[in-house]
Amino acid sequence: MTQRFEGATCLVTGGGGGIGAGTAKLLAAEGAHVIVADLSLERAREVAAEIKAMGHAASAHSVDVTSEASVAQLVDESWRENGPVTMVVTCAGIIKIQPFLDLPEADWDRTLDVNLKGTFLVLQGVARRLVREGLQGRMVAVSSVAGRGPRADVADYAASKAGVISVVRSAAMALAKYGMRVNAVCPGVVATEMTYAIQRMRAEDSGGDPDEMLAGAVAGIPIGRIETPEDVARAIAFLLSEEAGYVTGQALNVCGGLEFD
Ligand code: NAP
Repeated sequence: MTQRFEGATCLVTGGGGGIGAGTAKLLAAEGAHVIVADLSLERAREVAAEIKAMGHAASAHSVDVTSEASVAQLVDESWRENGPVTMVVTCAGIIKIQPFLDLPEADWDRTLDVNLKGTFLVLQGVARRLVREGLQGRMVAVSSVAGRGPRADVADYAASKAGVISVVRSAAMALAKYGMRVNAVCPGVVATEMTYAIQRMRAEDSGGDPDEMLAGAVAGIPIGRIETPEDVARAIAFLLSEEAGYVTGQALNVCGGLEFD
């Protein structure tokens, strides 16, 4: 394994989830000290323990990305315990299947809070500290192919993920002069609990079978298999690496050919 991130500290929010954990493990294997941050401290600790058992460096923190105070506390504690955090990956996210006509205001607000405001607060919180200390950084936010187009039964989620692409572009423009790069990835159908939950919700609504519905979704992927967290993690690692040193403000589809725009 190459050691592209030797000596760097990377914060991964939503690090207790599927894509977050896969990303944390890959970055740790490539030399980074990874701070696994999640709403569930227990889950963050489990992932950090797995990384340490593999002989790499990690620590665990709880964070609610919808709260500026919680994000500020995470940034302060991370710096105090591990030194400058020069890489960030925002993976925290939620989704709930609901037809457009039935989508309640409270659920719209919650999805936008976690997925969009949460991404903004984490990018801003780390960037403020880096600028204050005169340090450069690299950031990747996890958007989705759902941010590229309409979704009839997850209008809130699609809007939040389109918003993530917009925030990433604005952050890239604002922070380039400080030597920071900010990009997004747009995964497709990834083998994580979020995807299994989506299939269960859709099956419940339609009376179908969740496994068959997932198989149908996977059959529509040109590459012909479900995406793994490692597929996403490798693209994130590329965007964080020096190999992407001239790439900023971009949203990279990592979706097996599901989406082209
Ligand atoms: P996941 O396994 O459900 O992970 C999401 C993680 O975010 C969970 O650990 C969750 O914690 C955490 N989280 C939720 N609310 C939070 C908050 N307020 N503060 C901090 N952490 C919070 O889902 P995933 O598939 O890995 O998704 C990761 C990201 O990829 C999400 O942004 C998702 O939208 C995006 N994505 C996923 C897919 C896919 O097919 N799975 C496709 C495209 C994009 P709890 O479990 O404790 O709530």
